[in-house]
Amino acid sequence: MTSSRPPVRETRPATPRVRDTAQVRPATEGWTQKKDAEGRPLLQFASPKRGKPPVHLADLTPVERVSKVKELGMPGFRAKQLEKHYFHHWTHDPAEMTDLPAAGRDEFVHGMLPPLLTEVRRLETDRGDTIKFLWKLHDGALVESVLMRYPGRITLCVSSQAGCGMNCPFCATGQAGLTRNMSAAEIVEQVVRANRLIADGGLGDPRRVGHEGERVTNIVFMGMGEPLANYARLMQAVRVMVDKEHGLGMSARGITVSTVGLVPAITKLAHEDIPVTFALSLHAPDDQLRDELIPVNSRWKVDEALDAARAYFEKTGRRVSIEYALIKDMNDHAWRADLLAEKLNSRGRGWVHVNPIPLNPTPGSIWTASERDVQDEFVRRLNDAGIPTTLRDTRGKEIDGACGQLVATEEDQAVAAATPLET
Ligand code: SF4
Repeated sequence: MTSSRPPVRETRPATPRVRDTAQVRPATEGWTQKKDAEGRPLLQFASPKRGKPPVHLADLTPVERVSKVKELGMPGFRAKQLEKHYFHHWTHDPAEMTDLPAAGRDEFVHGMLPPLLTEVRRLETDRGDTIKFLWKLHDGALVESVLMRYPGRITLCVSSQAGCGMNCPFCATGQAGLTRNMSAAEIVEQVVRANRLIADGGLGDPRRVGHEGERVTNIVFMGMGEPLANYARLMQAVRVMVDKEHGLGMSARGITVSTVGLVPAITKLAHEDIPVTFALSLHAPDDQLRDELIPVNSRWKVDEALDAARAYFEKTGRRVSIEYALIKDMNDHAWRADLLAEKLNSRGRGWVHVNPIPLNPTPGSIWTASERDVQDEFVRRLNDAGIPTTLRDTRGKEIDGACGQLVATEEDQAVAAATPLET
């Protein structure tokens, strides 16, 4: 007997039409994007000339450290002692370095480990499991880092530049342009200070979590700045982070370098032989939208950025992350999920995963979170197309610790102005 019923077709819950027809275009709110002579958003690659931060142990190679120690009148082996204090005990306090001769110790330590970051403010949320730090650099520039405890790991989101020259219209950091590149040691010092705080029991309730010997396990370069625009210092910082003998001894795979798509620098990174995790902040699969959303797309298009990301995977064997902030009616359309899946699948299977990040809900702003069902549909379409996709947690929302939200408020600036630099 044959059934007269029509064959069963798999149907998807229809996404309301309005979602696929509405198109909110990116625009700045409350500030004006700086434009170049042709009226395009200005991109600033070179760091403005400012007084350089003092040279620090973490800016130098192990060989250079020995030379500097000798210049300061000490035998070369003292470099190793200082490395131990700084990278293993997270201290730059001469009083704690009793294995160094008392005579001239203060000057010597100050010469090798000059103070780089002065803590201006500390904001806590998630019952103390998330902490945002505001730091003042030697020239008064302000940067932030966010420390987050998760089950089984501790992640630090670090800044790599004071300000940013990439001018993304949704990003608070980009508004003021690029103040300057951070030095390698200023980047590393954020980790050392976080490790010190953890060792002192300052992250979360020690009765609830934590054990001795805990430290930052994961680093994400998603704080202020475009890390690949500060390439040489970024790489020096990464080398120090992974160096087991002369540095922090972290795992390269625990370090995520994220970029809006500086293609030549992605290619360079792939050839470094330090297989860090690589993340591309894509946020749109089509050039029409991405040109407006991520101004650097005017230099390197979506396909070029994806080709570079795929080449990173081929060279390093490390699966690439695609970051995608879901913004209501701007980039969260079902067809964009399909287009993204198509573009990723056309470059092979198993090389990439997608992390959609719901934006903070901001009522009345065009920069607001996608609705829950739209987020779910976006994720489902990618997963159905065979692209592993997981909605990312937006930890630190309450303290503006989310991506693209790091900026010093007027209040921060007032507190910073009144905070004397550490000496
Ligand atoms: S989103 Fe990233 S790259 Fe764009 S302006 Fe902000 S910090 Fe710079």
